[in-house]
Amino acid sequence: DIKTSQEAIQLENKFGAHNYHPLPVVLSKGEGVYLWDVEGKRYYDFLSAYSAVNQGHCHPKIKDALIEQANNLTLTSRAFFNDILGPYEEYITSYFGFDKVLPMNTGAEAVETAIKIARKWGYDKKEVAPHQAKIIVASENFHGRTTTIVSFSTDDDARNNFGPYTPGFIQIPYNDLTALNAALVNNPDVVGFLIEPIQGEAGVITPDKDYIKEAKKLCETHNVLLMADEIQTGIARTGSLLAVCGDCTCTGHCEKQESYVAPDILILGKALSGGFFPVSAVLANNPIMEVIHPGQHGSTFGGNPLGARVAIAALEVVKDEKLAQNARRLGTLFRERMENLIKKTDLVSLVRGRGLLNAIVINDKPESTTAWDICVGLKENGLLAKPTHGNIIRFAPPLVMTEEELHDCCDIIEHTILNF
Ligand code: PLP
Repeated sequence: DIKTSQEAIQLENKFGAHNYHPLPVVLSKGEGVYLWDVEGKRYYDFLSAYSAVNQGHCHPKIKDALIEQANNLTLTSRAFFNDILGPYEEYITSYFGFDKVLPMNTGAEAVETAIKIARKWGYDKKEVAPHQAKIIVASENFHGRTTTIVSFSTDDDARNNFGPYTPGFIQIPYNDLTALNAALVNNPDVVGFLIEPIQGEAGVITPDKDYIKEAKKLCETHNVLLMADEIQTGIARTGSLLAVCGDCTCTGHCEKQESYVAPDILILGKALSGGFFPVSAVLANNPIMEVIHPGQHGSTFGGNPLGARVAIAALEVVKDEKLAQNARRLGTLFRERMENLIKKTDLVSLVRGRGLLNAIVINDKPESTTAWDICVGLKENGLLAKPTHGNIIRFAPPLVMTEEELHDCCDIIEHTILNF
C-alpha cells in the first residue's frame, strides 16, 4: 500500500510512460468538490478531471447506479441486445433532442466516430467523389490524441513525429467566419465543420456571440454538417446544457430558445459518466445516422450496460440538481471576483470564460514557469488547478459547488496570487 506521496510519484516515474507532467500531488479520495491526498490533506478540485466530474466526485446517485448494475450485468458486447442500452438510448436522445445515438467510450473515439459518420454521409448522401471528403477544423483545436486527430492539430507537441498524417482536413483560424466561408466556397468536397463551441485546451477561448450560429448558416448553405465537439463544454459546464444552447437557461433540451444552434452531429464524453469511467456518445438525426450499417463501426465496450446505466444517472443528476443554472450563477460571481483581483495585481492580465469553464491569463511569457509555480502555490493553499498552454490557468470546479465554497476558493486564489 502507498503510504506517502513521494512513494507514489516514484512508482509512476519508474514504471509509467512519461506522457503527462502532473502537479506533485497524490490523491486517494474524492467527495463532491473536495479531493484528499494520501497524507490526508484536503483540496478544492478546480479542474474536475478536465470537466469529466461536473457532478462532483463519487456522486452517491451515480455510484449507486454503478454498483446496482455491476451486480447484474456489465458487458455483453453488441453481439447481443441488453436490457439497459435501449432505455439509455431513448433517454439520451430525448435529453439532447436527436433521433439517434452511437455509443462509444472515450472522447477521442467519439470524435473519430463523428469523422467517420460525416465522411460516409458525404459519399452516400452528398455524392462526394471517392476519397475526396474534407472536414474543416479550427487552428488550436483539441479533439484528442489518435493518429487521425493529431493529424489536424496545430500543436507541435501533439503532432510532431507522429506522421504520416491522415489527409482530408482543412485548417482555418478559430472564430473567423470569413475564413470559414472561403474554405466552403473553395472546397465543394467539404462534408463537415468540426468545432469546439469554446476551445477548452487552447485556454478557454470563447468566440464571438454569434459565431456558431453564423457558422451553422454557412454550413447549411453549402450542405455541410456542423459537428460540435462538446466533450469539454457540454453537460452544464458552461452554464447551459450545451455550449450551443447559448443563453438558454432551462434544465433540459429545448429547441424553442432563439440562442440554440442545433449541430448536425453532437459529440459528448467526459461528464456523461460523471467521471466514473469512460462513456462517450455521438448524436445525430436519422438522415445522417442511417449511413452507418452493421460491420462499419463499433467498439466492444461501446454501449455496455454499466456505462449506459451510469450515463442515465449522471444525466439525471445534471437535471435534478440544476447544475447548468448553478454553473451560470457561480460563473458570473467567479469572473467578478477575478476582475477585482486583476485590479490589484499586474500578474493576471485577463479572465475569460462562460459558466464554470474559465481561465486567467498570467502576465508572463508562455514559456515561463509562472503559471505552473502559481498552481504549485495554489496546491499548497488547498486548491488544485493546472496550467494549459504555458501561461494560462484553467479554472473548472465541479458544478455542485456552493456559493460559499466558491468564495472560499476565490479567497485562496486571491491570497496565493497577491502573495506570489
Ligand atoms: N475533445 C475535446 C474538446 C476535449 O476537451 C477532449 C479532452 O480533453 C477530447 C476531445 C478527448 O477526450 P478523451 O481524452 O476522452 O479522448
